Amino acid sequence: MPYAPHTFQNLIGHAAAYGFIFQSSDIYDGLAAVYDYGQNGAQLKKNIRDAWWKSMTQLNDNIVGIDAAIFMHPTTWKASGHVDSFSDPMIDNKDSNKRYRVDHLIEAHAEKLQAEGKADLAASILAEMEKLLAADDLNGIKTLIVDNKMVCGTSGTANWTDVRQFNLMFSTELGSVAEEASTIYLRPETAQGIFVNFLNVQKSGRLKIPFGIAQTGKAFRNEIVARQFIFRMREFEQMEMQFFVRPGTQKEWYQHWKAQRRQWHIDVMGFPEDRLKFHDHVKLAHYADAAVDIEFEFPFGFKELEGIHSRTDYDLGRHQEFSKKKQQYFDTEINQNYVPFVVETSVGLDRLVLATLSHAYAEESWTKEDGSPDSRVVLRLPANLAPIKLAVLPLTKKDGLPELARQLMDSCKTAFHCFYEEKDTIGKRYRRMDALGTPFCVTIDHQTKEDGTVTIRYRDTMTQQRMALTDVKAAVLAAITV
Ligand code: ATP
Repeated sequence: MPYAPHTFQNLIGHAAAYGFIFQSSDIYDGLAAVYDYGQNGAQLKKNIRDAWWKSMTQLNDNIVGIDAAIFMHPTTWKASGHVDSFSDPMIDNKDSNKRYRVDHLIEAHAEKLQAEGKADLAASILAEMEKLLAADDLNGIKTLIVDNKMVCGTSGTANWTDVRQFNLMFSTELGSVAEEASTIYLRPETAQGIFVNFLNVQKSGRLKIPFGIAQTGKAFRNEIVARQFIFRMREFEQMEMQFFVRPGTQKEWYQHWKAQRRQWHIDVMGFPEDRLKFHDHVKLAHYADAAVDIEFEFPFGFKELEGIHSRTDYDLGRHQEFSKKKQQYFDTEINQNYVPFVVETSVGLDRLVLATLSHAYAEESWTKEDGSPDSRVVLRLPANLAPIKLAVLPLTKKDGLPELARQLMDSCKTAFHCFYEEKDTIGKRYRRMDALGTPFCVTIDHQTKEDGTVTIRYRDTMTQQRMALTDVKAAVLAAITV
């Protein structure tokens, strides 16, 4: 189903109003492209992280998980290539002082041309851009911008600086004495923490190839233009898995992980197939022999959600060269020593949260039986991911109903997240739970005292049914187990 207009803007407002995502440092008017997760967002994000972690480290007996530090020895980033080439070409407008990533500026111009019916010109500009970026021809890119009369959205002028490379890594100083302090970086990806620990993990775990190492954690990139809410942030979280294989078998493993990861988004995240798309890379990084993005249809179009890359022996080979320590594995099956090849899966946790919220968010309106209009905003989150699984609602604050409700809470809260509320009408309380994505509400009423039954109300259908109070826990558990 296509997104309704304004879904994205409304979703951003909804995420703040219901405690999912706030602008960081809100009281100081925020910090660009940095966000905080509130009480419900943090739980949703944790549930997604846990689902990924389980699917990697619990369901695969040849994948283990680690938690490496954010700070790493500075040579790590020389070996990985980030010091020399983790940069985006950018350009400044001298009148507005606004900075653009050149590919974004050119793509926006091409989109405008397309809207004006000049599709051929747009395509040729994009093709030229690809060629120039691949050749690192910064002067050529400036000429392309100037010749096509691209202007700054703020100043409206074409008064541009030269195009420069902008390194995306944040640096800081390690050590308290200025003279002795050395420059270190906040990691721009989690993967290097896995590569440098390859032998530690393999040896201490007596692991045999093929095997994988998984990790989740913060990464930092000084993105030139950070936009589209939590899609592109300066501080974000990645979930990466490096799978170490025998050279020559990487193509099979690449196909394996490509298929596995797509299926995971369907089975565990509950995304429909038509919101997912593969985008095979035609132009490969020099170290990769295959690469694909899994794209998700966000409210602003299909965009990268996850990358799957066959990275050859580049990373371990480079660390071997820079550390002068052998990064080899002895394969007893073929009696050979080699530097393993790596197939990696790398997904952004925040982008997954955004994809989940985008897909779940719905504004619904209908006519009631008496002819009056009604409406609600609902998050149709998969039950396994919802921050709150069950709301327990006593119909009134008296007659012993709160006590019965508390007993149900106590019996369920060890197994899953419950929420208790006795304020407001039942209808209002249901609506609030719909907006938070809570799949089940249980109302304790006077009949509960007589026959031990409760009303269970289902978020998606809004239907209600009587059920024995003692059956509630099992019913919720059955629905949240994938
Ligand atoms: P993009 O082309 O969108 O900048 P990328 O190709 O640089 O992304 P990778 O380096 O492959 O991204 O990182 C793996 C994953 O990490 C991405 O698929 C994305 O989900 C996530 N990611 C990367 N950069 C950001 C960011 N600035 N904010 C949020 N998530 C990010």
